[in-house]
Amino acid sequence: MSVRRGTNLDRVGGFNDAVVLDAIRRSTRLSRVELAEVTGLSGQAISNITRRLLEAGLLRDAGRQRTSGLGKPRTLLELEPAGQYAVGVHLDPAVVTVVVLDLTGEVIARRSVGTPHADDPDVLIDRIAATIEDVITEAAAPRDRVTGVGIAAPGPIDVERGVVVDPPNLSAWHLVPLRDELRERIGLPVLLDKDVTAAASAEKWAGGGGSFVFFYLGTGVGAGLVIGDEVVRGSSSNVGEIGHVIVDPDGPVCYCGRRGCVGEASQPRYLVQQAMQTGVLAQGIDLDDRGAVDAAFARLCSEAEDGPGLAREIVAVLAERIAKVVEDIANLLDLERVVFGGPHWEQLAPLLGDAVRAALEERFLVRSVHPFEVAGTALGVDVGAIGAASLVLDQTFSPNPSVLLPDRELVGER
Ligand SMILES: [Zn+2]
Repeated sequence: MSVRRGTNLDRVGGFNDAVVLDAIRRSTRLSRVELAEVTGLSGQAISNITRRLLEAGLLRDAGRQRTSGLGKPRTLLELEPAGQYAVGVHLDPAVVTVVVLDLTGEVIARRSVGTPHADDPDVLIDRIAATIEDVITEAAAPRDRVTGVGIAAPGPIDVERGVVVDPPNLSAWHLVPLRDELRERIGLPVLLDKDVTAAASAEKWAGGGGSFVFFYLGTGVGAGLVIGDEVVRGSSSNVGEIGHVIVDPDGPVCYCGRRGCVGEASQPRYLVQQAMQTGVLAQGIDLDDRGAVDAAFARLCSEAEDGPGLAREIVAVLAERIAKVVEDIANLLDLERVVFGGPHWEQLAPLLGDAVRAALEERFLVRSVHPFEVAGTALGVDVGAIGAASLVLDQTFSPNPSVLLPDRELVGER
């Protein structure tokens, strides 16, 4: 990943602050001389900017650098973790996850609560607001250091108006102005973005730049894209709606009305149904009972892990279908890797990873030019929430963040 260059024009202070903070974030610690080298800013500019950032509490001294020559040791600078906090919310139809990140991107508090299935969106928005307050308290983050809240929501969304349009499995939700409703309740700036875009952003932050697809396996299936170190958003920030790619014309009926969409075919509900039909699991599991399906799905996964057999075949068929979708995306966009994540991935990972890798080995076209990697996210089930918070931190580290936090007041600019 390349460090952005600064500009020595005075009027662009905010731009240069972001350039300097980002350079330090990428290297962990830098001296002022090194900062001038990597950013292209003058020594005087670096001196002014770093003084300002130290005063604002966003940077701190990190000891002296030993030099081999006779020159005096240089002071190193690093990010002050407590300088800023960002809240991330992942709204999944099954579970709401809230995290608080410090300025270095570390998760310092988290909580997840079941998504209430009330008819009134207000009930859920109240629950989210209360959870945000709890997690900020638990993180012991001073309110004036919390830059804002990022929400990762299922698509489609209207980013400009901060509206969730028609999320799957939340039947009462239609054109809910989630961003503004939440801002009113908690009094912090709020931004809304798509769940898979947030997840891709988190993965990029965690050090995985380049060109990749983030394949999310949860209550919905979707793809986030990073190409050439940049998160790809599309014309309306609704990139990655791959859940309705048909992988099995005889498969289960999807809520979109067609059969065999990859999103529906990879739901635990359908896999458990298949397991009952083939005798892997005993008959009589209520497929409309989420708790019962989850428990049955866990049994199916552990059976498949135990060794070859019908349970493993169910997972192998799913892997083959997912691999086909990944292959098409990867070939179309000349990608280097796929990163899997999401709650269902966490359960299937030990088996699905190898099976998808094997399926792609045989087929991936660009493989003859460069390798194609299959990986699971290192960020675990919180990847969506972490990503939503990282979109908020992006406002501090990117001179041109891809989504803007409304009403933003930078800590230190007051
Ligand atoms: Zn569908």
